[in-house]
Amino acid sequence: MKTLPPGSTIGILGGGQLGRMLSVAAAQLGYRCHIYASDAGSVAAEVSAQFTCALDEDIVSLTRFAESCDVITFEFENVPVGPLHQIEACAPLHPPITALDIAQNRVAEKNFARTHGGTTAPFAEVLDRPSLDTAIAEIGAPAILKTIRMGYDGKGQSRIRSGDNLDSHWEAVAHQPCVAEGFVTFDHEFSVILVRGQDGEIRFWNTPHNIHEDGILALSVAPAPAAILEQQDAARALAAKMADAMDYVGVLTCEFFATKNGPVFNEMAPRVHNSGHWTIEGAVSSQFENHIRAICGLPLGDTGLAAKNVEMHNLIGAQANDWQSLLSDGANHLHLYGKGESRPGRKMGHVTKLHF
Ligand code: AMP
Repeated sequence: MKTLPPGSTIGILGGGQLGRMLSVAAAQLGYRCHIYASDAGSVAAEVSAQFTCALDEDIVSLTRFAESCDVITFEFENVPVGPLHQIEACAPLHPPITALDIAQNRVAEKNFARTHGGTTAPFAEVLDRPSLDTAIAEIGAPAILKTIRMGYDGKGQSRIRSGDNLDSHWEAVAHQPCVAEGFVTFDHEFSVILVRGQDGEIRFWNTPHNIHEDGILALSVAPAPAAILEQQDAARALAAKMADAMDYVGVLTCEFFATKNGPVFNEMAPRVHNSGHWTIEGAVSSQFENHIRAICGLPLGDTGLAAKNVEMHNLIGAQANDWQSLLSDGANHLHLYGKGESRPGRKMGHVTKLHF
């Protein structure tokens, strides 16, 4: 295990709020961050030592960036994988590229979970219009059509009800390769958030209960209700097996549905995750700090709860305009991501409250 001393440079691919919060955690430990992002208005760059604004596929800029870093990580899972293989010789990259390969493809992701003993929704690949008919005949309706690649926060998805004309759903996903998933009847949604160190040690945070609105996370609460905690061991065991199989280093999040028949794996994020933002104040060590510790080869921090109960509300779109009234409750921890324009559905910030 190679330990990077404070003062070293951590490269972060991606410039959004996750990179911003990673950079703050890294700075606390004495590291410098270098952000690589294509958006000139990167909110991560605002709080980081260095910024390269260039396209993900710009191999010349990417190589120069990699040469300036002692370790490289990423804050979004849609980083193009091809160029990463070319810069791997410049600096260690954590989590591994395999994790991106799997997480970028919904079919590979579900097969990976099944291979390690997990249960997923029934699914079928849809590569063209006729195969949509075949898929729905096989798995039935209701179902959800999701693009195999590039979907997030409910984007690139179309919900199919029984008797629907399938043409409109095929239009809705812009004729892209998809997976048709059977609709899972669930009681709750939750996530397993773990960190795995370079020596293979795994630590889990308290399992949050996640509530989504319009496909976007609205609220995470920890500890979760008993109906989720009963399924926690099985879900954690699957997530740990998957992490071990990838020789994963860093924070890994797996999202689950709690059903009458146990946990159903939905998807994984090979990175810090929105459902773990509460750990900044609500856990002894946050997901951001432990991700930095893991990729730098430091001992992992304690993941225990720092209060009896913690809740994190996302501030979506115009909800962030209420910052003044949120601050009038002195127990609220307000985080604003510094994004100029609040558009509907855009994650602008979050607020965390601890109950003792
Ligand atoms: P995803 O982009 O896969 O995370 O989906 C966003 C949200 O849509 C999930 O958090 C669930 O609330 C809902 N959802 C996704 N897939 C399914 C499914 N197969 N059955 C029921 N609800 C789903």
